[in-house]
Amino acid sequence: MQSNLYYNTFSNYLKQHWGRKIRKLSLHGDFTCPNRDGSIGKGGCTFCNVSSFVDTTAKRQTISEQIVTRRHELTRKTDGYLAYFQAYTSTYAEVSRLKALYDDALKQPGIIGLAVGTRPDCVPDEVLKLLADYQHQGQEIWLELGLQTAHDQTLKRINRGHTFADYCKTITRAQHYGIKVCTHLIVGLPGELREESLATLANVLDCGVDGLKIHPLHVVDGSIMAKAWHANRLKTLSLDEYVDTATTMIQMTPSDVIFHRISAHARPPTLIAPQWCSQKWTAPHAILQRLKETGHQGALTGRPYTLNSSSHTNNFLGSAKLNAGRAV
Ligand code: SF4
Repeated sequence: MQSNLYYNTFSNYLKQHWGRKIRKLSLHGDFTCPNRDGSIGKGGCTFCNVSSFVDTTAKRQTISEQIVTRRHELTRKTDGYLAYFQAYTSTYAEVSRLKALYDDALKQPGIIGLAVGTRPDCVPDEVLKLLADYQHQGQEIWLELGLQTAHDQTLKRINRGHTFADYCKTITRAQHYGIKVCTHLIVGLPGELREESLATLANVLDCGVDGLKIHPLHVVDGSIMAKAWHANRLKTLSLDEYVDTATTMIQMTPSDVIFHRISAHARPPTLIAPQWCSQKWTAPHAILQRLKETGHQGALTGRPYTLNSSSHTNNFLGSAKLNAGRAV
């Protein structure tokens, strides 16, 4: 099944725009995080263990060396790459250091642009201006903002250290500089029902966004949530619960918004729960099948979101209630 027939995929967008297959190379700029070093908070977000999704040993290599390594690791080769500064908060440094790192990436053969992952409260104007300069030079530039939820109560509970208003202000400034933004959202956060995920999406769309990454809450070893899960104070979504909500979110989203990702995976022993997240394609294939059956991206655009009464929705309510009101 071709994904881009049912939703606007990032790979298809890049292929249309650049005339060839473009792959992302994940890089480590040896940044830290203001939510870990005490500038904003300590301990980090409760779901986070950076080493669960990036190779933390990569920081011993220069950016150009990492690009060579990552290219060799790819099983399917191409001649176009997006340099993805993924680890920690990849705008958390003096702009001169950021420029040196980004420049190093952009001058490597085949690199067509940057994707820079960061927090909404860590993107000063000089960073936006730097990214806008690259864009004016013809580079593909994406700012990836971790929001996770639009609900301040949940943001506080998962120790994000910023509010939804902080996110909206950054979106407005990024729009002023013409920078494309991809927003990361997590479905199934503690205390959140399906309705909260749909409300988060509605609020994010209201602010204006160019791309989305959605994924289920998955508990990884070494995170604060892992302790809560082992203490039986946290429950994760079933595959069907996630597919139900993710499908509706895609259907609520206008067709011009690009989905960079619709699920996430990790491998045991890093992955603790849910086990279905250990299979990379299980959730995307199930979502695709559901989109095929019930309507593609944009099918619910403009309609108010509603809770339905299907069995998986009821399970979801049960999961969320289990997590409600507890510190995770
Ligand atoms: S998710 Fe991002 S902001 Fe939160 S602790 Fe991890 S690196 Fe820091």
